[in-house]
Amino acid sequence: MTDKPMVLMPEDIQRIMGKDAQRNNILAARMVAEMIKTTLGPKGMDKMLVSPTGEIIITNDGVTILEEMQIEHPAAKMMVDIARTQDSEVGDGTTTVVMIAGKLLENAERLLDKKIHPTIIAKGYKIAAEKCQEILNEIALRISPDDDNILRQIAMTAMTGKSAEGSKEKFADIVVKAVKQIYHDGKVDLNDIKIEKSKGEGIADTELISGIVLDKEKVSSEMPTRINNAKIVLIDFPLELKNPEIDTKISISTPEQLQGFLNQEERTIKEMIGKVRETNANVVFCQKGIDDFAQYLLSKAGIYACRRVARSDMEKLAKATGGKIVSNLGELSSAELGNAEIVEEIKHGKDSFTYVKGCKNPKALTILIHGGTGHIIDEIERALRDSLGVVSSSIKTGLVVPGGGAIEIELARRLRIFGQSLSGREQLAIEEFASALEFIPTTLAENAGLDPIDVLTELKSKHDAGDKNAGLNLFKNKIENVLEARIIEPYKIKTQAISSATEVANMILRIDDVIASSGKGNKGKGMPMNEFD
Ligand code: ADP
Ligand code: MG
Repeated sequence: MTDKPMVLMPEDIQRIMGKDAQRNNILAARMVAEMIKTTLGPKGMDKMLVSPTGEIIITNDGVTILEEMQIEHPAAKMMVDIARTQDSEVGDGTTTVVMIAGKLLENAERLLDKKIHPTIIAKGYKIAAEKCQEILNEIALRISPDDDNILRQIAMTAMTGKSAEGSKEKFADIVVKAVKQIYHDGKVDLNDIKIEKSKGEGIADTELISGIVLDKEKVSSEMPTRINNAKIVLIDFPLELKNPEIDTKISISTPEQLQGFLNQEERTIKEMIGKVRETNANVVFCQKGIDDFAQYLLSKAGIYACRRVARSDMEKLAKATGGKIVSNLGELSSAELGNAEIVEEIKHGKDSFTYVKGCKNPKALTILIHGGTGHIIDEIERALRDSLGVVSSSIKTGLVVPGGGAIEIELARRLRIFGQSLSGREQLAIEEFASALEFIPTTLAENAGLDPIDVLTELKSKHDAGDKNAGLNLFKNKIENVLEARIIEPYKIKTQAISSATEVANMILRIDDVIASSGKGNKGKGMPMNEFD
């Protein structure tokens, strides 16, 4: 044995333990929830986010705000993660999930103060979350994929309070039609809906195209601007000779040799275009380049062509037109062609687009958003994506729940009754879980300038009297049957939000030791934990 102290970790490691670690993490997570709380619901406010380079985003969307804030605190980052999960799993409810998680942690602190051990709290929360899933299964309403009206209402509920609200009827129509078109075998892949944006006209000009819109112009001005009854070739090899990836050297010593070489080159291109013409195609979409001579020959043949079309767009074009992407000249035949009623170049403002529309039973389509400025278009896109998410989730599960806080109040009420059958300390955790859910309706009220306590009291008494669809209708600032008022949300928003929020709250509660190296990750700012102190 020596007198030297034992070294377990390098000196620059920072460590927070026990209560301090726990409180610090809870505080950070709560602050995240606090920050986005004012955006919740139809009367929620927007945030303006300015990036270091001066770019501005104006949004009401929970996950967008959190992602742009560049949060560094590890516990706060976990909150951002659940918003992301909510976004990818359901497409909406990102503010809700973070708020519930924040409130669960805030309420857990009260229990910690009463000397209840974190593992007991976590256990109680887990039981409560499971019970919620059970209750949700029991009270969710079944809908069929043909309930277009209900689907439209769900789409509109997701848009209320966002800048899309002004045209929400029209957008809801577009969203429901789009999702239903790509729905088959119980599946919806939202990647099959392309969202394209055009600056110029107003948002009310936003359109659904049964086909694909490319932000590309035809490759040569000599080509026709519009093709009716389009027969479309999709190719992913270049219509040019020089392959820019392979640098070839040819030594030419006489003018005859040069001419010979050029003739040879021309012949090959001619052959390529000849092959295309043999198929009787009148439109070519090429993933690679089309050289000048090929352009000339295509124009002469009256063929419309675009080059350097993105791979993702090629795939969508195949799905929309029923064509096949051809990878070599030998495979090219009329059997691989796709069809569309019209292929046309259309100008919006300064930009030219190629519309491929009137596809029969397309398995991919496009929503073309029009709007005056980039900020508006981007915010409309976010609202439309939320809406597409809720409609597809409702179609997939076939289950919906009443919005406006109604479902949260009913869950809280039933949880409390259930809690009475449990032991004392778990019962306290269930009670706190129930009150965390009530944070949704009280915040909806607060953001609308109503008195949250009055609203909560009235909602609770209506639910106690058996009115399980009583919620806050913020179109009228009134408590009423929200199903009748058509404020409807997908079941999956709630099941996902409750399970993610509980998971993250429990994970944070169980941490009693934070060990952080002050390496590069922390940008020399010391321990990121302290940022929220
Ligand atoms: P999130 O990011 O969680 O989706 P939102 O800002 O979109 O947050 O708000 C969603 C909440 O607003 C839901 O609880 C929903 O029921 C509620 N809501 C939507 N429309 C209305 C309405 N007309 N009246 C009352 N509440 C509404
Ligand atoms: Mg929403």
